[in-house]
Amino acid sequence: DADLSTVDPDVAAAVGAELHRQQATLEMIASENFAPAAVLEAQGSVLTNKYAEGYPGKRYYGGCEHVDVIENLAIERAKSLFGADHANVQPHSGAQANAAAMVSLLQPGDTILGLDLAHGGHLTHGMKLNFSGKLYNVVAYHVDADTGRIDMAEVERLAVEHKPKLIIAGWSAYPRQLDFAEFRRIADAVEAKLMVDMAHFAGLVAAGLHPNPVPYADIVTTTTHKTLGGPRGGIVLCREEYAKKVNSAVFPGQQGGPLEHVIAGKAVALKIAASEEFRERQQRVLEGARILADRLSEQDCADAGVRVLTGGTDVHLVLVDLVNSSLDGKQAEDRLHSVGITVNRNAVPFDPRPPMVTSGLRIGTPALATRGFGAEDFTEVADIIARALQPDFDEATERELRSRVELLAGKHPLYAGRS
Ligand code: PLP
Repeated sequence: DADLSTVDPDVAAAVGAELHRQQATLEMIASENFAPAAVLEAQGSVLTNKYAEGYPGKRYYGGCEHVDVIENLAIERAKSLFGADHANVQPHSGAQANAAAMVSLLQPGDTILGLDLAHGGHLTHGMKLNFSGKLYNVVAYHVDADTGRIDMAEVERLAVEHKPKLIIAGWSAYPRQLDFAEFRRIADAVEAKLMVDMAHFAGLVAAGLHPNPVPYADIVTTTTHKTLGGPRGGIVLCREEYAKKVNSAVFPGQQGGPLEHVIAGKAVALKIAASEEFRERQQRVLEGARILADRLSEQDCADAGVRVLTGGTDVHLVLVDLVNSSLDGKQAEDRLHSVGITVNRNAVPFDPRPPMVTSGLRIGTPALATRGFGAEDFTEVADIIARALQPDFDEATERELRSRVELLAGKHPLYAGRS
């Protein structure tokens, strides 16, 4: 059997170049991580070949005895890790997990209440071009302009006024924990269902370092590739009463054949996420984010117009406000890219600039923690970022910072032995 480089040297070369990029630069996109070799192996396995429409024990295809074992492992591990009654591990992505959850709880035209995309929400929480914005009547809540924190008084006011069928708690860009009990109280008061999308912070929940939404929510969705550190994909967790509806909403509602090779990767990642090593890693994730928030709050950053939204972080990311900086989000992203650090520009709440430019950065620590970074390394990374955002940045600074990045990358090899 010919290998990739023989069959398709063009694709092989690009894959090799991407491996090198991941090894040589510092990955700080908050939604990214490095899947372990065992997960990559499971995903690259012969499971790719198997059709398995249906669920374990109830398939529409023959020959599913081995994928049933794998999918059952993934289901049981997901339930046990998060304390859920029921788990569906088939969603191909977080967006499809959310679509399935909403189809389970809503009829088209129903009202949903979610965090505004421009204030840190996700596309699937009601953005107008997304299925969620097209199928449902969307009301959005916001963060408070002064504190940068979700305005729970507004959530309650909007819930009472609009009587949504579903309240969505969860975010893509928000540096604090949510008050799940308060969301539940508001949902109960207006007889709404509560869905929590924990895609970003699921790894922290698994490690016991973030409150678990499962006891509070009717349905919890997650991705498996962010802080959880597994393959790209989604999971829906729910109470027993919604199990049938959720299963039917995923298949046949949203999807055909499940990706059993990815489900195998999910099973492996969920096993790892229950380990002490994983918990220790998530502690470094949080410590790194706090170190970064502290460094970007120092005087030189304040003088450069760099501000940390909400004044800090409780999670794996820091949101940087550049409204008063000479750099916009795009320029800052490019600046960090030039020294070998990958981040994404991000709109800040009440952003005066358009979404393709923005006035902010979202910087996350999960991928570097997976690489082995500890407090000392994060202190160095934080200083590199702080220096890069200064107005006196020039070619000499770029060279100096780039070599400091190279030292850190060399200190923590990634996927050693792969080519
Ligand atoms: N939910 C949240 C909160 C997210 O941040 C994301 C991804 O960015 C998703 C869902 C969607 O995940 P996916 O990209 O796998 O569809």
